[in-house]
Amino acid sequence: MVQAIPPALERLIKNLMRFPGVGEKSATRMALQILRWSPSVAKELGASILDLHDKIGICSRCFTFSQEDPCRICQAAGRNQEVVCVVEEPGDVVAIEKTGSFNGLYHVLQGVLSPREGIGPDELKINELLERVQNEPIKEAIIATSSTVAGEATASYLIDVLKETGVTVTRIACGIPMGTDLKYADQMTLKRALESRTSLF
Ligand SMILES: [Zn+2]
Repeated sequence: MVQAIPPALERLIKNLMRFPGVGEKSATRMALQILRWSPSVAKELGASILDLHDKIGICSRCFTFSQEDPCRICQAAGRNQEVVCVVEEPGDVVAIEKTGSFNGLYHVLQGVLSPREGIGPDELKINELLERVQNEPIKEAIIATSSTVAGEATASYLIDVLKETGVTVTRIACGIPMGTDLKYADQMTLKRALESRTSLF
């Protein structure tokens, strides 16, 4: 039997299938679309992917993705240095920044606690958060983990360890439906959840 799909095309289809929710059909459609583009446009897509890992690093202060270190948010004049919003992933920083209703700093945990997957407190940037709370003028920590089971478990753990430091700890929850990944919450809901945060102690 003759191989109907040329190997180069098949390679692209296989790579596109790495995206969650993209099956062989959609991947094939996308690959054929790219094939119809002019070579320069297709090359630009390839080059931007290549560039990504060369250029993007992690901010050594807040651990979000950044092309500079410290990141633009950490460097920005006029951000409230006394409030830190604790999130799971860099995507959450992007989602909250889009609401335009937060002017403090961030701390990206780089995941959530998941004993089943062997992710304990040491695998997340929790010690780094405690260090920041002790060494920076932070007065309030807003826990903005998702309202998923793992997100809630992570929030309770953080509340426990932050209690010792004396900062005010608040939790956004109100308005975010249970089980929602923060970055998929719509902007208005996220804005309201952030504004109507409650103090835990
Ligand atoms: Zn930063």
